[in-house]
Amino acid sequence: MYASTGGSRRPSAPRTSRLTRLAVLASTVALSAAGLAVAATPSSAATCNGYVGLTFDDGPTGSTGALLSVLRANGVRATMFNVGQNVQSNQSAARAQVDAGMWVANHSWNHAHMTSMSQSQMQSDLSQTNSAIQAATGVRPQLFRPPYGETNSTLQSVATSLGLRQVIWDVDSQDWNGASVSQIVSNASRLQAGQVILMHDGIQNTRDVIPQIMANLSSRNLCPGMISPSTGRAVAPDGTAPPTTPPPTTPPPTSGCTATATTPNVWGDRYNTSVTVQGASNWTVVVALTPPQRVSTTWNGSPSWDSTGYVMTMRSNGSGNTFGFTTMMNGNSSARAQIRSCTAG
Ligand SMILES: [Zn+2]
Repeated sequence: MYASTGGSRRPSAPRTSRLTRLAVLASTVALSAAGLAVAATPSSAATCNGYVGLTFDDGPTGSTGALLSVLRANGVRATMFNVGQNVQSNQSAARAQVDAGMWVANHSWNHAHMTSMSQSQMQSDLSQTNSAIQAATGVRPQLFRPPYGETNSTLQSVATSLGLRQVIWDVDSQDWNGASVSQIVSNASRLQAGQVILMHDGIQNTRDVIPQIMANLSSRNLCPGMISPSTGRAVAPDGTAPPTTPPPTTPPPTSGCTATATTPNVWGDRYNTSVTVQGASNWTVVVALTPPQRVSTTWNGSPSWDSTGYVMTMRSNGSGNTFGFTTMMNGNSSARAQIRSCTAG
């Protein structure tokens, strides 16, 4: 690849075309030849204002090699949620994933509906898969995605006990559902910094769509990254936190009332917040969420939203001084809604 590109370069080639070839060369060799000066400073490095997690489930398959070729040609590192028995029967393909710079993760032993399993069945399923992946690749998985995204608290605690962070997805590409290339591109265009998209190994449209997804991400200064085992969010490939910052934390409450938030209920995918206002019977409370969390339901107040959808202004509606809301975690299970201000009247 390197030799043939060099050999084809003509001294008379226009400058722009040579630069284009260099850029292509840089992205294609970046994974395999990080020592090259040209690969160490890819021109796109300065434009990564955030990272997204591209994930490919259900492999390895007979076409894993083709998928890896497309990913490498487009300078993509992705997370492969592998099925344990597929790894065991195709160890070289699993190894090739790691050799191509991909992160390997646990997607159960044989893609069963795990929520109907007993705790000990879950335990043996996930640990058998971990062992198969480690035996084939030398890498111990740190991430787990339940088949079909079906999970419960027992499965989550089993995963945690095995050192696995559960990761679902923010955006479903629908590639498993026969989505066309343009539909997959459209779905992927909804990805925001920190988010994760579901795709699959073994689907032709998925391989074909990679260059267009990359063009879309690049136009929005987003880059493919790794999924942090500690937060489940997409971060830089070296594991450092993304440059995006969460909303500012609570400035002191102002003019006339105080709002106090508690979290009476937490489930696997959502939590309830209860806010009690003191010092006013007509009040306006501003609440900030941490993306990608979203409020799904509110009660005992009249909500309105800013343009981002992450800042809610709740006004009293005669239902008393305690209001509440349900927040979907969307993969960020640690952040909690924060009170920004309470204003009387
Ligand atoms: Zn799957």
